[in-house]
Amino acid sequence: MGLEEKLPAGVLLTTVEQVIGLARKSSVWPATFGLACCAIEMMATGDPRHDFSRWGMERASGSPRQADLMIVAGRVSQKMAPVLRQIYDQMASPKWVIAMGVCASSGGMFNNYAIVQGVDHIVPVDVYLPGCPPRPEMLLDAILKLHDKIQNTKLGVHRKREIEELEKARLRQLPLLDQPEVVS
Ligand code: SF4
Repeated sequence: MGLEEKLPAGVLLTTVEQVIGLARKSSVWPATFGLACCAIEMMATGDPRHDFSRWGMERASGSPRQADLMIVAGRVSQKMAPVLRQIYDQMASPKWVIAMGVCASSGGMFNNYAIVQGVDHIVPVDVYLPGCPPRPEMLLDAILKLHDKIQNTKLGVHRKREIEELEKARLRQLPLLDQPEVVS
C-alpha cells in the first residue's frame, strides 16, 4: 500500500516549491509593452475570444510596480531601450519577459542602426516567440510554456539571476562612478 492510500480523503502531499510555483504561474500579471504592429495581436490575446484571464492574468497592468511579466511586442528602437530597461527594473520580483515576434526577438527585418537587434540585449528573456506577427494563439502558447518554466524553477534561482543583473548594471555604470567628485 502506497503512502497516498494511507492518507485521509482530501489530503495531498506536495512540496513548498511546488505550491509556490503553482501560485506564481496562476497569478502572472503582464505589463504590456506594445511597441509596434505585434501589439495589436497582443491586445487581441486579452479579448473575449482568446481571454488570457483564463490563466489568472486578470488584467494587464498599467504600472510596472504591479506587474511581473513584460511582453515586449514589436521592434525596440535604440531610443526606447533605456526606457524599457527602467520599466523592467521597476517591476516586482520575480519577473519574466516574453519577446513577442521576430523584431523583439532578434531585430527581425530591421537590421539597421536604429533598432536593437533583440530585446535580450536590454533585459533577460524567458520565452522567444517567432512570427510576424505571432497570432494570439501563439502568444497564449508562449504564456503556457512560461507557466511550465515558472512551475519548474527552483526557489532562489530568480534571486540569483536578479543579483547577477544588478551586478551587470553596476558594471555598466562604472565609468560614471569613476567621474571626479564635485566639491562644493
Ligand atoms: S514582427 Fe512583424 S508584426 Fe511584429 S513588430 Fe515586427 S514587423 Fe511588426
